[in-house]
Amino acid sequence: MEKILSVTGLRKDFGGAAAVDGISFEVAPGEIVGLLGPNGAGKTTTISMILGVLEPGAGEILIPDRERMNFAAVYAPLPGNLTVTENLRIFGLIYGVHDLAARVAALLEQFDLGKYRDTKAGLLSSGEQTRLGLAKAMLNEPRLLLLDEPTASLDPSVSREIRARIKDFVARGASGVLWTSHNMNEVEEVCDRVLFLSRGKILLEGNPRTLPEQHGKKTLEDLFVAVAREPLSL
Ligand code: ATP
Repeated sequence: MEKILSVTGLRKDFGGAAAVDGISFEVAPGEIVGLLGPNGAGKTTTISMILGVLEPGAGEILIPDRERMNFAAVYAPLPGNLTVTENLRIFGLIYGVHDLAARVAALLEQFDLGKYRDTKAGLLSSGEQTRLGLAKAMLNEPRLLLLDEPTASLDPSVSREIRARIKDFVARGASGVLWTSHNMNEVEEVCDRVLFLSRGKILLEGNPRTLPEQHGKKTLEDLFVAVAREPLSL
């Protein structure tokens, strides 16, 4: 089956130090892949290169359906002087979404943004802005969805709903997700496979529900802490 994303030997240096140090991985249709690692491990740098906003130092990124890629992250808020509806309409026009009015209406409903439809995005709470960012990311029914800590500012109840929504979307089988998170419970629930990144390298890869035991740890969080503190011990 054709992969949605194939990364080979990807590298990026900043001032002579490697932020991403020759990583290779793939995302298949119907798969949610977690990109885990401590602060500064290289997750955002990797996502930025996949998005094309950062030029790789070396390596290859293959995305067969690049036009159907989308992205959400708290550090990329939508224009604050436009209303929720205006934002969704403008991005929908940019993506060439068919039957845009109906799509926007459906997303307002799905992400519980109906009552803010005429509110300027800059006035929304951080959790509401996150929901708007996710609604925007779903506009073009992306085949590759890059989510950089998508639930970081959401309360537990909304976060649960958003996880369920994204899992349902991916379960339809056409799309794949690369998902970064520092919440190991979330990762265990959502991700089919995880990549542990440390100092720009992939140290471990596998099923988040079986990896801890394979490495003598009780939980994914214990494994995370071990990888973060003593990457050479693995
Ligand atoms: P976090 O969990 O804190 O978001 P991360 O895994 O996303 O971390 P990156 O943001 O990819 O980490 O950063 C990887 C390394 O590259 C860090 O050491 C960071 O300081 C460095 N770095 C990132 N961007 C730049 C830049 N534009 N110039 C110089 N160094 C950078």
